[in-house]
Amino acid sequence: MLNATHDPSLTSWVISANKEGANFPIQNLPFGVFTSANNHQPHVGVAIGNDIVDLYLLAQEGLLGLNAIVFDQEDINEFMAQGHSVWTKCRRDLSKLLSSQDSIIQQQVGLALVPQTDATLLLPIKVEGYTDFYASKEHATNVGTMFRDPKNALMPNWLHIPIGYNGRASTVVVSGTDVRRPLGQLKSPTASEPHFGPTQKLDIELEMGAIVGTPNEMGAPLTVAQAQANIFGFVLLNDWSARDIQVWEYQPLGPFQAKAFATTISPWVVTQEALEPFKVHGPKQQPKPLAYLTQSHAGNYDVELQVDIQTQSSSVSQTISQTNFKAMYWSSAQQLAHHSSSGCAMQTGDLLGSGTISGSTKESLGSLLELTWNGQNPLLLANGEERQFVEDGDTLTLRGHCQGQGYRIGFGSAVGRILSAHEL
Ligand code: MN
Repeated sequence: MLNATHDPSLTSWVISANKEGANFPIQNLPFGVFTSANNHQPHVGVAIGNDIVDLYLLAQEGLLGLNAIVFDQEDINEFMAQGHSVWTKCRRDLSKLLSSQDSIIQQQVGLALVPQTDATLLLPIKVEGYTDFYASKEHATNVGTMFRDPKNALMPNWLHIPIGYNGRASTVVVSGTDVRRPLGQLKSPTASEPHFGPTQKLDIELEMGAIVGTPNEMGAPLTVAQAQANIFGFVLLNDWSARDIQVWEYQPLGPFQAKAFATTISPWVVTQEALEPFKVHGPKQQPKPLAYLTQSHAGNYDVELQVDIQTQSSSVSQTISQTNFKAMYWSSAQQLAHHSSSGCAMQTGDLLGSGTISGSTKESLGSLLELTWNGQNPLLLANGEERQFVEDGDTLTLRGHCQGQGYRIGFGSAVGRILSAHEL
């Protein structure tokens, strides 16, 4: 539901928040965890303009009506565990404090501001479990066309089940963390035996990550509406993938080492409440999903996304893909409802990757696998270099924002640079 915190005309006394194109206006208020030169102890904070509000300090001053210990944490899980009504109240309180005309309030809150340039952003959540889905029909069709049969690109279950696999939580890292090229078993179609070595087909997957805020008990499935309410917020997510390892290992149990080495997420968790004005209906689902997956309300989000690459020898980055989160076939709420449908207990801090977000045009594909059609059509970069897949020294950056009237809800970025493989 929309409330006063969504008012497009609302401005903050933190001037940088009101600048055109700012990622973090007062309508956003995303949560993260940071340390700074003056404070080595991680605190939970909220981004506003070019600054971070230290919520621990605000709570200590009694300005949030919450025990400060909730924000004296290495992650936001404790805050998420407080539940939906606390999330909403905290957003409302922060919105009031940061838009206040009262100079005493401005002074008090001003003492809790830290410039983002002085802060180190940490992994915002303790990732309890990581599940990756496969919810873009365009992406699933492209992959099925390449690896199976163009005439039956979608598997028969795809239109009925939000397909997913259990990923690896321990290697979810925050933006800015270098990623080492993975080693693995590789077998080319022409070789008789596999060998062990660095992947030659290192790829990205442009995704959004939904973060579970409210848990459900084992044995107690969620409806789609309940699932929607249990999602705290979203981050950008790069599901790094080694296509040659994947193609050899994935049958019959799905991806394993090809995806286990790293997943990069952005440091700011944009709350579901901040995204409320950008809710849209997804594509019409035909055949109609089974009752437990039926979604009557809008469950998709209009988020503009892009992927940039900067090679080691280039001083500038260039955009290689632009797409939107809104066209996903299965919504995050449907994915979470399906995940809990067996009785699986979902926990505060579970991360659900949306699946690669690909659009229907050549410019809107969310992986190099699709952009280069498995390396057949290399990308020609502005500096004359070519790319089939990601090379050592390349930096890949995902960005995203929702465009509102006169403001944007920015997600910031998810950045990762590739280091050469561990020596054999
Ligand atoms: Mn993925």
